[in-house]
Amino acid sequence: MRTFKYFESPRTSAASSWTEEEDTCDLCGNEGPWYEGPFVGEDDDGVERVCEECLAGGELTGQGLSANTGDVDTLRAQLQALPPAERETRIGERTEELQSRTPPLVTWQDLPWPAHCGDYCRFLGETGRKELDALAPDGNGEAFFHKHVYEADRELRIDFAELPPEAPTRDEDAWEVGVYLFRCLDCGTHVIRWDAN
Ligand SMILES: [Zn+2]
Ligand SMILES: [Zn+2]
Repeated sequence: MRTFKYFESPRTSAASSWTEEEDTCDLCGNEGPWYEGPFVGEDDDGVERVCEECLAGGELTGQGLSANTGDVDTLRAQLQALPPAERETRIGERTEELQSRTPPLVTWQDLPWPAHCGDYCRFLGETGRKELDALAPDGNGEAFFHKHVYEADRELRIDFAELPPEAPTRDEDAWEVGVYLFRCLDCGTHVIRWDAN
């Protein structure tokens, strides 16, 4: 099993498009389990199924296809102190890995991948009130949620009571509200994004 820098458990996460049933990879033609797209690019030629080997091996990059969208503007702002050339190189490398060598994150809305401390965060999994209470050092999941929610998601206020009672599993229908837990690869702080159906 491949490991991914920005996606912790893509084979078990409810927010992953990992599909165990065997089918043909649209890139290499091998039969096996796969990640479901859409994988989009300028010449969108209908790539829907990509095996883990092709994804981890950078085959999407070669085709100009993306599985995810990064919050590039926030990343660039965080790297403002670097000389421009170095900054753009770093942004390019990290964004390429996120977009073309990271399993697709399945969300309700287009939710650009959060950045912290100059890199994209690692997606840990979907979460709910129960998990947030457990994660909060003082057991107060509500305070934890509001403290760690991503800057872009602060404007649209949501009450803690509207969050799912617990994280969905792969076998369940998703909740109407999705709460996605990330962690900064540098400072370790948790970062939360949420969206709704
Ligand atoms: Zn393949
Ligand atoms: Zn950080």
